[in-house]
Amino acid sequence: MAEIRLDGVTKTFDRKVRAVDDVQLTIADREFMVLLGPSGCGKTTLMRMIAGLEYPDGGRIAIGGRDVTDLPPRRRDIAMVFQSYAVFPHLTVFENIAFGLRMRKMAKAEVARKVERAAVLVQLEPYLGRYSAQLSGGQRQRVAVARAIVMEPSVLLMDEPLSNLDALLRLTFRAELKKLVAELNTTTIYVTHDQIEALSLGDRVAVMREGRVVQHGTPMAVYDRPATSFVGSFIGSPPMNFLRGRVEGQNGDLRVRLGEHALAAPAALAGHAGREVLLGIRAENIEAETTVVPDAISARTEVVEPLGSHLLLTAVVGDQRLKLQTRTDFPAAPDAPLWLRPEPDKLRWYDPETSQEIAAG
Ligand code: ATP
Repeated sequence: MAEIRLDGVTKTFDRKVRAVDDVQLTIADREFMVLLGPSGCGKTTLMRMIAGLEYPDGGRIAIGGRDVTDLPPRRRDIAMVFQSYAVFPHLTVFENIAFGLRMRKMAKAEVARKVERAAVLVQLEPYLGRYSAQLSGGQRQRVAVARAIVMEPSVLLMDEPLSNLDALLRLTFRAELKKLVAELNTTTIYVTHDQIEALSLGDRVAVMREGRVVQHGTPMAVYDRPATSFVGSFIGSPPMNFLRGRVEGQNGDLRVRLGEHALAAPAALAGHAGREVLLGIRAENIEAETTVVPDAISARTEVVEPLGSHLLLTAVVGDQRLKLQTRTDFPAAPDAPLWLRPEPDKLRWYDPETSQEIAAG
């Protein structure tokens, strides 16, 4: 059992930079949790505290039901993979992978057996005799992963392990890593600022901002129901659209005015009558027509971007812009009129002051 429990974990640097602020998060045994957030939001600091490389100035950390807050890294039963490959160039792949096991003074035959198994898992078996200086970046990163998993830790911590690889290699290695971690069945925490990586890999994603976890949930849940407009604009490519509108009318006949158009609004917006709200809608949840559709939002195409599998349109509604996705055979043309129908159950409503979701649908 290696559940990880973070209870009010806080870290301040130089008495003023609150890098991690009161984080409350439980990572279930064998779960793959991704910490996602923009640069400087505190992901690495939080990870380093879980590893024992940084000491929290508030809160407790428990691994497998044991309070490890005051324990040094070597007594936490964790293994880490960092962004830089951190493999020894003067050692062979075999010796690199075996390094930690040798430090434990494990018997030779046992070391060989474990190293070979780890090498098979990361597909490095043919390279065991090579020096790591003779490997490609992707292969070196595999060595780093193998060196961590060979220790059979209860917790595997990975900090941006793919970020030094080129785009294509990242894509291949991402899927391999996902398969590997599923086979290992080890509790894993993975730090990244790449939202695609987070969505693709995690059983759950914890989105961080300014030292705090602002939302956690399955990738699809976080994508579909961002708890704040920050999460909606951070996750997804393109980011979620946000349109300003004013709440009009009253219960029973509540509407949100977007320029000339009035959209039916959910009852939960009644408390915001007379005020501005943000309508969040994703590019793939807007239907477009080039001929007049009654009750649709009238817009104008500004930019058409063919992206192979679909078109990405930038459209103008009143004085606001939004992005939408259409099929490649859609008759899109710059400056042409458009009629837009957002899918009603995909509408998300946010308070522009707090950025919190107020209602969905
Ligand atoms: P990145 O994706 O760029 O690595 P991050 O989300 O991992 O960012 P951290 O490295 O955890 O962010 O940093 C969080 C904040 O703490 C930043 O403002 C950073 O400047 C500050 N910080 C981190 N380490 C130290 C340190 N040793 N001394 C002082 N400030 C630090």
